[in-house]
Amino acid sequence: MNNHVTVLEIDSKALEHNLNYFKQKLEPTTKVLVVVKAFGYGSDAIKIAKFLEDKVDYFAVAYTHEGVALREAKIKKPILVLHPQIPNLGSIIEYRLEPNLYNYKILKAFLALADEKVTMNFPIHIKFNTGLNRLGFWHTDVSVILSEIKASNNVRIESIFSHLAASDDLEEEEFTVSQINNFAYIVKQFYEHLGYEPMIHILNTSGVVNYSQAQFDMVRLGIGLYGFGNDAQVTSELQNTHKLKSIISQIHQIEPGETVGYNRAFVAKRLTKTATIPIGHADGISRRLGNENGYVLINNQKAEIVGNVCMDMIMVDVTKIECKEGDEVVIFNSQEMINEMAENAETISYEVLTAISQRVKRELI
Ligand SMILES: *Cc1c(COP(=O)(O)O)cnc(C)c1O
Repeated sequence: MNNHVTVLEIDSKALEHNLNYFKQKLEPTTKVLVVVKAFGYGSDAIKIAKFLEDKVDYFAVAYTHEGVALREAKIKKPILVLHPQIPNLGSIIEYRLEPNLYNYKILKAFLALADEKVTMNFPIHIKFNTGLNRLGFWHTDVSVILSEIKASNNVRIESIFSHLAASDDLEEEEFTVSQINNFAYIVKQFYEHLGYEPMIHILNTSGVVNYSQAQFDMVRLGIGLYGFGNDAQVTSELQNTHKLKSIISQIHQIEPGETVGYNRAFVAKRLTKTATIPIGHADGISRRLGNENGYVLINNQKAEIVGNVCMDMIMVDVTKIECKEGDEVVIFNSQEMINEMAENAETISYEVLTAISQRVKRELI
């Protein structure tokens, strides 16, 4: 049992609000897949999946073991595994996860296993690379994929998909539209030659906001569900889902000339009051936030991080803040604070959220 006082609260009402915000931008028939990879963007994939299971159509995870964890938690909805590897294919079948097959090697390996186990119409997904150049078949691979798959009774293409490289950036609109058009052309060839019509999908969160005309049969929502749109306007219409909080473990009075923390990085210029908080870089607080580059809130006032971020602790300046040991400390509780923290740590909101380590207790509120 984790009784750690440093807690990440996940706001279920905010999650539902955000889901509905995106649903309103879609046709009622468009399916919604929720991406819960990386522990649900650093929250809790199982709690989120349980909460959303009857409100969405599909889940996706990056790796097979993330999908196995959801199945072991009794999640019944289809789960797309975005990045399976050949050694995982047995577990994919055993747990009825649905693999993304992105190159010949894994397609052939899966077909062989499906034949061996006589899986009969096992749902698979085929991903095409249309410009991200990360994972996926090329448009020139269509006819070979078609002949391989048409020869097997043991698999059925459940969906064909692709991923946009810059859906959040309207300056890249021309490129994005060409990705969408190339994808549509690939799909057309499948529809003409396959004998049935798999679902198709290409949009992530910012794709839904900027290119809803390309929603096709399903969209894949990730960061938006957790409160972040691609611009300030959309973000303001979403609600914050992540609140990271802790308490003050100890308060110190530091005389001028004394130092705080490792390598004596902070030197007190005047009588300084510091508070020690039980959260550090092993919990996901970037070391870049040390030395007054980041802050927390104590009794609604900003307390800057002084000295270096330790593995398990930070020290903050509370000279001007009325507070005592045991008081609540807010690491972040709004999208603005998360964005500011991301900026201070030279990263993006996605990384701030996914960096929160598993040592931090999670609570769905
Ligand atoms: C992570 C991921 C998503 C979700 O993207 P967001 O920008 O968080 O909405 C969608 N599709 C794929 C293939 C992904 O890897």
